[in-house]
Amino acid sequence: MVIANTNTPQNKVITILGSTGSIGRNTVHLIEQSETPYQVYALTGNSNVSLLAEQAIRLNAKLAVIANEQYYDQLKHALVDTNIQCAAGYQAVIDAASYDKTDFVMSAIVGAAGLESTLAAIKQSNATIGLANKECLVCAGQLMMDAIKEHNTTLIPVDSEHSAIFQVLDNKHSAMIENLTLTASGGPFRTYTAEQLKHVTPSQAIAHPNWKMGKKISIDSATMMNKGLEIIEAFHLFPVRAEQIKVLIHPESIIHSMVNYQDGSTLAQLGTADMCTPIAVALSWPKRMKTAQSRLNLAEIGKLTFEEPNTQKFPAIQLAKEVLSHNNLSAASIIFNAANEVAVAEFLENNIAFTNIVTTVDAMLHNDSYFTPIHTIDDVIALDKEIRHQTNNHIKNHYAVAA
Ligand code: NAD
Ligand code: MG
Repeated sequence: MVIANTNTPQNKVITILGSTGSIGRNTVHLIEQSETPYQVYALTGNSNVSLLAEQAIRLNAKLAVIANEQYYDQLKHALVDTNIQCAAGYQAVIDAASYDKTDFVMSAIVGAAGLESTLAAIKQSNATIGLANKECLVCAGQLMMDAIKEHNTTLIPVDSEHSAIFQVLDNKHSAMIENLTLTASGGPFRTYTAEQLKHVTPSQAIAHPNWKMGKKISIDSATMMNKGLEIIEAFHLFPVRAEQIKVLIHPESIIHSMVNYQDGSTLAQLGTADMCTPIAVALSWPKRMKTAQSRLNLAEIGKLTFEEPNTQKFPAIQLAKEVLSHNNLSAASIIFNAANEVAVAEFLENNIAFTNIVTTVDAMLHNDSYFTPIHTIDDVIALDKEIRHQTNNHIKNHYAVAA
């Protein structure tokens, strides 16, 4: 369940973890537009030094951190005539996230690589966390939600579906929720046959019909692993059981999700397919901010359509449900996420076929020997590492010449 404080200060000190990515760039854009001044503490990126330096200068950040240490000299060089401090490396990102004078941290690193920095931001307690990085919640959901409770941290979901539910969920009457409906566009291959799916290329899979996103989430949307990850994300964020989380295909991506109550009411949040809206909700919560993004024009859109997901062609949703019913949910979630991260990277390198992404995750999930007890973040990190190794082996052994 999302825990919410209401004493948000006026002038926010903000850090963006992953400022050079798609969510990060949209966050920077909104801060630059905002009527309320923001003070930027840290911006972090992985390898795009020139954009990181440019953003740090534009926003007058105190600190720019590049996660990949080999780019440190380039970053220093790019910021030589400024007062902006530079740092590099995995620990430097965590340190930036831990700064206790920060009011808001946008968690927008992609993948489990963002887990420890997001957790560090949660533990410093003073900041509200805007959570875009769904993978960290998937692979350490229980531990993260425990830390949020322990440190009384406010967490606002940024994923559009979860932002929608956050906006319409009445926490006072959560016992009266019948179920949640996560909407899904169905991705670029919704109407493809099983045979056509086998021949999908990375460039086709990256081109999402509605949303402009980073490469990894675009592939996840195409396989529908994204919806699988989001089912697990919703399970941790909201006060519902796994069987209360439904998925509905809605190709126009206008209704971002719905809460269905036991009195027959369904509350939905609508908007254009623009991540600036859920980012703005998180940035300004519990207030709202004005944005210059394009507005929803339902008369122009004319009609909205819906259909049941095809779980035969897209088994990822079913796999996520299996994860949630597993007696070692924590290990199952880590395996689900890590195997997917590796398989997506291998698909992008043309080493496996599109359909082998989900079959790889399926194979890794059905090997009982990988299920270790998970009690601490170190356990999460150790299993995540082991599964990455095992998934690479699996791919080498099974799909070496598949693509
Ligand atoms: P992206 O690939 O565009 O950006 C990722 C960011 O993470 C970049 O700043 C990159 O430098 C940084 N990064 C990558 N690897 C790193 C590492 N090892 N260490 C530190 N930093 C690293 O991704 P995105 O599309 O912005 O997505 C970010 C997160 O938000 C993902 O978890 C995604 O699922 C989620 N999300 C994205 C969207 C969207 O529209 N893009 C929507 C909903 C949720
Ligand atoms: Mg989403």
